[in-house]
Amino acid sequence: MAKTLINDKRLTPTMKRIRSGSTQLFREENPNNRSFISNENADVILTHDTDKAMYAELIDGEWYWVSGCAECIGKPRGTSYIECDEHDVCSCCGISRKEIEGSVWGGRHGWICPSCHDAKKLEARQRAFQKLNGNEPDTHYTDNPTCPHCGTEHDINYVNENTTLECYVCEGGFEIEVNWTPSYTTTVVGERLTH
Ligand SMILES: [Zn+2]
Ligand SMILES: [Zn+2]
Ligand SMILES: [Zn+2]
Repeated sequence: MAKTLINDKRLTPTMKRIRSGSTQLFREENPNNRSFISNENADVILTHDTDKAMYAELIDGEWYWVSGCAECIGKPRGTSYIECDEHDVCSCCGISRKEIEGSVWGGRHGWICPSCHDAKKLEARQRAFQKLNGNEPDTHYTDNPTCPHCGTEHDINYVNENTTLECYVCEGGFEIEVNWTPSYTTTVVGERLTH
């Protein structure tokens, strides 16, 4: 359901509305009161009965419930944390957010659950070592620091001093020594020759 009229006679088109999670706070505008709308001073407080992704929006002078869930309104899933229960699922295995205790891993196309995250990590690690096929990775004078354990290239924007790092793929520790490529500056000895 993308949009439904809110049947509440207390609401007027001149009210201001703020969102606090899935709670909607309404208050009549008052030029003499510049304080923020809060639970204490709101005229009307509403939460959608069944869908936590619904928020109130004034459309042509009437208040509607509008879905803040990207997928409900036909958009690709993004990084938003406001999703309806149906779509608030791990983008990898589909487990519902309600079934997970604690936090999840954010993703550009929806979050992933801790066990999918761990599985992906293990997969990446195995892939890296398989690629090496028992050989030692080439770690000398490379464009990016390369993990000497698993061969993963670490795309670091700028490392200008020797440092140590933990590989995000294999979690192995390693040291980075920065190699400088020489460049040259010259100045005239004696008098400048022009011809
Ligand atoms: Zn949805
Ligand atoms: Zn999952
Ligand atoms: Zn590594």
